[in-house]
Amino acid sequence: MLNEALQYLQLQFPIIPLCSHDHSCMSRIHLSTCKSPGKRPLIKNWQDAGIPSEQQVKDWFRRWPTANIGIILGISSGLVALDVDGPFGFAKLEELAGGNLPETWQFSTPGGGMRYLFSIPPGIGCPKFTFRDPDTSHQHSELAILGDGSCTVLPPSLHRNGGTYAWIKSPEWPGLQ
Ligand SMILES: [Zn+2]
Repeated sequence: MLNEALQYLQLQFPIIPLCSHDHSCMSRIHLSTCKSPGKRPLIKNWQDAGIPSEQQVKDWFRRWPTANIGIILGISSGLVALDVDGPFGFAKLEELAGGNLPETWQFSTPGGGMRYLFSIPPGIGCPKFTFRDPDTSHQHSELAILGDGSCTVLPPSLHRNGGTYAWIKSPEWPGLQ
């Protein structure tokens, strides 16, 4: 995961370390408080951490060799993520985008969802907003816009179910840089 983290750093991505999907290498305090294996930031004040130094990234993965990689979203990074889950999430996205979603960085999530990353203009905030499936019997069926105060996992991080987040259109994809 360190190599991928260093590649993201070359792209000037504001990455952060997230806890491991199986909670290996995590502290006892972390184990007793974290309910989101693979998703919780491991550094304090991560919302304002900015782009780390190469040494910082190496230190993170020396300390937590099994950590996942996350990225800061919202006004502090200029990036927002669309988190699409379940039939409702995909239908809502289709409805809002009118079948015309601009090409952008895109990766699949091991739960069957999709995540799109978009850049937003500097200095513009974007609070988190969630469209929920009105049928509450459908678990993980929603469309969420993740922005200020949020972060998202990046490929090739591992999900707690053992699956891997995987790029469909990566930051190296032609025309998307
Ligand atoms: Zn955790």
